[in-house]
Amino acid sequence: MQPEPHLAVDALAADVVVDLSNVVRETGLLGGREADLGRFTALLAALVRWTGDPAVHVYPVCDRSLLDLPELTRTERQILADWERRGLIEVLPVADDRVLDLADRTRRPVVSSDRYDEYIRRYPWIAGSRRRFLKPVPIDAPPGIAVVPRLMEIPPDWVISRKEEESALLAAGLYRRRGDGPRRDLLSRRWRCPVPGCPTFGPAAPAAGPLPDCRGHRTPHCPTHQRPLADLGEAPHRSQLKVRIDGIERCRRVVSEGRPITVGRAPREPVPARPATARPATALPLAAWLTGGAREWISREHVAVRQTGPQITVEDLSSNGTRIRRRDGEETQLRRGRPRTLARGDVVLLHDTVELLLSAKEFAFDEESGPAAPYGEDLRATWIQPPPRRPGRRR
Ligand SMILES: [Zn+2]
Repeated sequence: MQPEPHLAVDALAADVVVDLSNVVRETGLLGGREADLGRFTALLAALVRWTGDPAVHVYPVCDRSLLDLPELTRTERQILADWERRGLIEVLPVADDRVLDLADRTRRPVVSSDRYDEYIRRYPWIAGSRRRFLKPVPIDAPPGIAVVPRLMEIPPDWVISRKEEESALLAAGLYRRRGDGPRRDLLSRRWRCPVPGCPTFGPAAPAAGPLPDCRGHRTPHCPTHQRPLADLGEAPHRSQLKVRIDGIERCRRVVSEGRPITVGRAPREPVPARPATARPATALPLAAWLTGGAREWISREHVAVRQTGPQITVEDLSSNGTRIRRRDGEETQLRRGRPRTLARGDVVLLHDTVELLLSAKEFAFDEESGPAAPYGEDLRATWIQPPPRRPGRRR
């Protein structure tokens, strides 16, 4: 079978979008090579059978790295380069986003075995989809490939956060795909830009700010000014706490060492030693978002959340109690006044409808979507949704 007559130059003329690197590098298909362009040809035959259309057209998108992949033969690399030159495949530094963007706009199904967990917040239609993804699977007689519709699972929140962070680190040159993962040596430091008043790495920048840029540099650079950053020493440990009420994420807060946060219906802010404007808020009031039974159930001060070194603990202060739901679904009741260390994926239940989640992000917090809190350096709250309007009030 000749692939070329099946390659569409225009995505709208295609029947499916193909994540080409994913197919070529899927070692479970056709033979044991690390990468094999023959898998793509076999996929086209499978799509002809699946659609019943002998002239089926695909729109392949791939990462630039595929064109230089040493696991492909020289001939295979030459074929790919020729296809790129003739506009028969689309080549990008990172293909995933483009694949999903095309699928989003053209509503064509995607052929890939990727889970795309890190894109679920941007493209909510991925989670739970049964129709929009096809997976290539091996068949025996004769040896080849078939396509089957995939059910896209809904991953837990912490998996999405984790994947999102990995792709942000990858884009900043702070993650090694092969080998050790995140560049902890660089991510655990505080950095300062030499440009006065730099909003990203200046003295007034938030501690949980953007990532230093290491793409094509030997040392971290300011992403805004492209100047080398000065190392200010070890960064304090911090975590991101999310509040989910009635299944909707309402707010995010950064908890840092020495600044515990009290969460409840209406917790009091401790009297500040210094003027309040210089201090980050440590009270996280939930009253505006509480509905139904949760309004009576949640104590004024329900739990305290503390960062101690790399660990985060939660302490129950409430009258009605607090539970922790582990990743395996098991729930345990907290003992009042006995702090417990949280593990990744744990959910703290103040009430059946009021949950605190720990972001699985360790190095960067996605705070760009909300206004900066007016308080100070190491806190920014992101208000995902305005508080619900109270029923019965009319103008
Ligand atoms: Zn700068």
